[in-house]
Amino acid sequence: MPQIIDGKQISAQIKDEVKEKVAALKAQGTMVCLAVIQVGADPASSVYVGNKKKACAYVGIESLSYELPEETSQEELLSLIDELNGKPEVNGILVQLPLPGHIDEDAVIRAIDPKKDVDGFHPQSVGALCIGQPGVVSCTPAGIIELLKRSGIEIAGKECVVIGRSNIVGKPMAILLLRENGTVTVTHSRTRDLKEVTRRADILVVAVGKPKMITKEYVKDGAVVIDVGIHRNENHKLCGDVDYEDVLPVCSAITPVPGGVGPMTIAMLMYNCVRSVELQ
Ligand code: NDP
Repeated sequence: MPQIIDGKQISAQIKDEVKEKVAALKAQGTMVCLAVIQVGADPASSVYVGNKKKACAYVGIESLSYELPEETSQEELLSLIDELNGKPEVNGILVQLPLPGHIDEDAVIRAIDPKKDVDGFHPQSVGALCIGQPGVVSCTPAGIIELLKRSGIEIAGKECVVIGRSNIVGKPMAILLLRENGTVTVTHSRTRDLKEVTRRADILVVAVGKPKMITKEYVKDGAVVIDVGIHRNENHKLCGDVDYEDVLPVCSAITPVPGGVGPMTIAMLMYNCVRSVELQ
């Protein structure tokens, strides 16, 4: 019977650990405070922002909320970030993505003080990750490493294949697996014979953004399968990039959707807020 990796339970454990750290910091007179900026009222973004604020309340992190109208200009947003960069009582700044089309996301990410970059998207954070220096690591891939470690899955020496090379999941995931001494292959839309590559994986991380694309034909017997995807199927139920029922009989461990990688992202954001206090 494959191991079902329980992201709900592991993320709850991490949030409780963060809660303790936040309380210890408070006892020393240091408050942890996250500023959350949302531009526009995209319903999915509002749900994510709401969940992040709820998690802050649970762990004892103060959250400041900036809900800006859709027509906010890039200059106005950059000026708010500049103001928050200058406030010592604000430890973390999170700008909910995606931003409206008239705003350059890269410019916004670059404007955040790297020490307050709790998403780990700033070029300095990514650079630090690449060369193994202290910094904040992007939440979803950091959460996947925690899932593997806390489920007793060894990474060192394993063949790790990542499907997807986005800046927020695929690339940092590959670097983190490498840092844990995995032998890493990154695949993408131009990879020739994807199945041949993925069938070599002891650990297969799927961040392809295509509902249920990965069936058992892509998976080696006994592989660990991590499903990053989140989609709603035709019945409005959540599903991942992996065809869970099809892959379950051949893998040794798998993350379900929901209840796998998803809850880890917010738990790691809470962890990163405390980390940014340490970096400051
Ligand atoms: P992107 O769309 O940015 O990246 C998808 C990647 O998959 C690209 O690198 C693309 O290649 C590659 N790809 C697309 N089609 C194929 C194919 N047929 N064969 C091989 N590779 C392919 O997605 P994200 O990385 O942002 O997200 C991936 C998934 O994870 C989504 O479902 C998203 O919703 C989910 N997600 C979940 C999170 C969570 O908290 N659980 C957080 C973030 C994302 P190329 O570069 O060549 O175009």
